[in-house]
Amino acid sequence: MQSELKPCPFCWGRARSAEAGPEVTGMAFIVECQKCKAGSGWHFKKAEAITAWNTRAERDALKAEIERLRGKLQYMADTNLADDEYRTIAREALAGKAEQ
Ligand SMILES: [Zn+2]
Repeated sequence: MQSELKPCPFCWGRARSAEAGPEVTGMAFIVECQKCKAGSGWHFKKAEAITAWNTRAERDALKAEIERLRGKLQYMADTNLADDEYRTIAREALAGKAEQ
């Protein structure tokens, strides 16, 4: 069953699911990286912990992309630019360029 776990999005280490004893919260399942100890957070069900772990890399990538685009928009909102400069920045943002 361990093979259904994606590798760690931070260090590519092997992940494993773990079950703790009775917790006050009732959340007893977690998936964590055996190498760097990054975790899914605690969940009520093993399947929830596995889903949280396996979608973590996607969530982190989406958050990074949103932050990158927000940075471009903030720069455009805060800076007095010529129309062609706005278009250049927008094209760079769409092309995925990180620099500003
Ligand atoms: Zn790791």
